[in-house]
Amino acid sequence: MTESVPSASERLAAIAERIERARQRFGPPPEKVTLVAVSKTFDAEQVRPFLEAGHRVFGENRVQEAQAKWPGLRASYEGIELHLIGPLQTNKARDAVKLFDVIQSVDRDKLAGVLRAEMDRAGRELPVFVQVNIGGEAQKAGIAIDDAVAFVGRCRSEHRLNVVGLMCIPPEGEPPGPYFAHLAELAKAAGVEKLSMGMSGDFETAVAMGATHVRVGSALFGARPPVAAA
Ligand SMILES: *Cc1c(COP(=O)(O)O)cnc(C)c1O
Repeated sequence: MTESVPSASERLAAIAERIERARQRFGPPPEKVTLVAVSKTFDAEQVRPFLEAGHRVFGENRVQEAQAKWPGLRASYEGIELHLIGPLQTNKARDAVKLFDVIQSVDRDKLAGVLRAEMDRAGRELPVFVQVNIGGEAQKAGIAIDDAVAFVGRCRSEHRLNVVGLMCIPPEGEPPGPYFAHLAELAKAAGVEKLSMGMSGDFETAVAMGATHVRVGSALFGARPPVAAA
C-alpha cells in the first residue's frame, strides 16, 4: 500500500519535470528555474525526506515558525538556502536576517531601512526581492505598482540593499497570466533579473511568463490544514 504514496524524490522529480516542460514549451528562457519548496506548516520530520532527496531551497512565511524548525535541520544538512516569503514586521527583522538567506517580501521603506541596519549589525548581506501588490488589492502586502520601480531604486541607493528581483502573489480566482506578465515588465523597467512568481496551482503559467523562482508548497508536501482566522 505504501507504494502508492510518492516519495519525496518522486514528488520533487515530478515538479521539476513540469517546470522543465513548461520552460521548453513556452518559455522565454531563463537559464534555470529555482524550485522554492514551501514548507510552512510542515514540521522538521516532514521536511527531512526532501533534504534527504537532495533538495536545498526552501521557503517559509513566518519567522517564528522557521526559527523552531530550521536551526536543527541546518545542523544536519549542508547548503540549505532559506527564503522568507511572508510579510515581515520590522521587530522581527533581526531574527529574520540571522535565520534566512534571501528575503522575498521587502515592500516598504521602513522595512528596507531596518533590514539595512540589521544586515550591517549581523555582518550579513542578504539578497532581497521586492514584493509588488500586483493586483492592487487593499488588504495585500506589497509595494504599489505605481511606486514599484522607484522603490527598487530607493532600496538600492538609499538603503543599499542587493535587490535581485521582484515577487508577487496575484489575486485569487483570476487567471494569473496577465499579472505575471505585468510583474515581468516591471522587473525590466526596474532593471532586476529575477522573478519569484507561481505557486502550486499556477507555476507552469509563471514559468511560461519568465519566472526564475517558483514557490511550491502543497503540490510537494500535500494539503495544509485550513488556516485559522488571524
Ligand atoms: C503558502 C505560500 C506559497 C505556496 O503555496 P501552495 O499553493 O501551497 O504552493 C507560495 N508563496 C507564498 C507567499 C505562500 O505564502
